[in-house]
Amino acid sequence: MKPKKKKAICKWDRSEIEDLLPLLLAEAHSAKYVCKKCGRTAAEKAYLCKPVADKEIK
Ligand SMILES: [Zn+2]
Repeated sequence: MKPKKKKAICKWDRSEIEDLLPLLLAEAHSAKYVCKKCGRTAAEKAYLCKPVADKEIK
């Protein structure tokens, strides 16, 4: 199953998380952004509600 469009991981519900676990893992492995509200990580900022780039943190 593919997501219709990029939706913030922060806003996924339980069934979406279960369906998209492989994507979630891939995003976490290559994460370059962290959500400063929820503490989630992703490779693309579209997946986070309050993304902060790693460069802004270091
Ligand atoms: Zn968030």
